[in-house]
Formats: sequence, C-alpha cells, structure tokens
Amino acid sequence: MPPSEWTLKTEDCCALSIKLVRKEGFLTSPREEVLTWTFSDGSRTSIRVVSNPPHQITLRYTITDERGTSWPVSDRIRIDWTPCHLGGKRPWFSCPLCGRRVGVLFLRAGYFRCRHCQKLRYRCKSETPLDRSRRRIHKIECRFGGDTFNRPKGMHRTRFERLQRRLDDAEERESDARFNALVRHFKLDSPSGPSAWLNSQIFDQESIRVLSFCMDALKKVRSQKE
Ligand SMILES: [Zn+2]
Repeated sequence: MPPSEWTLKTEDCCALSIKLVRKEGFLTSPREEVLTWTFSDGSRTSIRVVSNPPHQITLRYTITDERGTSWPVSDRIRIDWTPCHLGGKRPWFSCPLCGRRVGVLFLRAGYFRCRHCQKLRYRCKSETPLDRSRRRIHKIECRFGGDTFNRPKGMHRTRFERLQRRLDDAEERESDARFNALVRHFKLDSPSGPSAWLNSQIFDQESIRVLSFCMDALKKVRSQKE
C-alpha cells in the first residue's frame, strides 16, 4: 500500500505508455516525433521522442522552473523485452531511476519515472479501504495456489514463509478496516454514539445483543493492539 504522503495520483501527471510507444511504431524502426498532452485547462506539454529500436528511446524536452529558467533534458530510457506465454515478446520501459520494468512512466519534477519513484497513487475511486484490504488478501492467497498452510511444490521455503507473513499482515489490516467500516457505519465515533443506535427501534433485542457482543469484542481486539 502506498504511504499516506503519496498524495498525487497517476492521473495528475503526464503518462507515457509503452503500448502507445509501440503502437506508434517507435519500437520497430528509428523515428522521431513530438507527443503532446493537452490538459482540461487548455495547457499543453510536449516532448520529442527519438527511438533507437529495439532497446532504447530518448525523450527530449525543455524544463522551465517557476522563476522562468529553462534547460534542455535528453533522457534515455531502456526498453526491455520479455517473452509472452503465447509466443511473441512484450516491451517494457526500464525505469531510469530504479530499473523496474513498467508499462507506464509518469512526468513529475521534470522527469519521466515509474509510479513508485514518482510516489504516485493509482486512482481507485469506488474502492473502500476494506475492499482494498480484501483484494490484497485475495492476491496473496492466489500465490499459494489455494492452500495457505502447506508449501506448494516447487516453492522455496523462504518465499513460502515470507508470503505467510504478508498474509498475516494483510489479514490484520483487513480486520482494522472492517472495524473502522463498522464504526463509520454505525457512527460509533459520533457523540450520539452506540447508545443512539442501540436505543433506536431499528433492531430487535436479539440483534442488539449480538451486535453489542461483536462491538465489545472488536474494541477489545483493537485496544490490545494499541
Ligand atoms: Zn522507478
């Protein structure tokens, strides 16, 4: 999960995708062309792409800082190719800063780098923290191949243990997210608090008993953690 100080989102920056670079033919023959981004406020950013296929493209543009000083940038980006399962090869940018293979580079602070180096979050508008934590658990569980307690054939012990630790962490975060969702749902953090809904006529006595029990248990778990 990205740290909370990563406030900018990927859509706040110019993005250069390898799919576009490939589609425009930069990876098949040497060529030079200007790519332009137009923003909702009408402003534009342009860069010149010079390709030296199959393993390199160069991005050329001018940076101007807030005092009006300009300087030229010529940034070489390495292109890596990996085989596809169904044949053929797939291109990737190799991030010039960290070397990660990525499909998209983002312009921030004057340079095109990967999302991680640029500290950008993905937008996921509809996803709640609880959805996110569940998605994370599912993703880790898939790596175990269904059984999270027994080491799959061919998986190294160190990797298996690391995955188990990550799963434990993810489950803990899911439990926190569930607790917070419950608190928000019942407005337990508001001054009118739990007694307001407990005294309301929405729930029958048995539901109230069960809910109170759950809330107490969750609070206990949370206070133990703190
Ligand atoms: Zn990077």
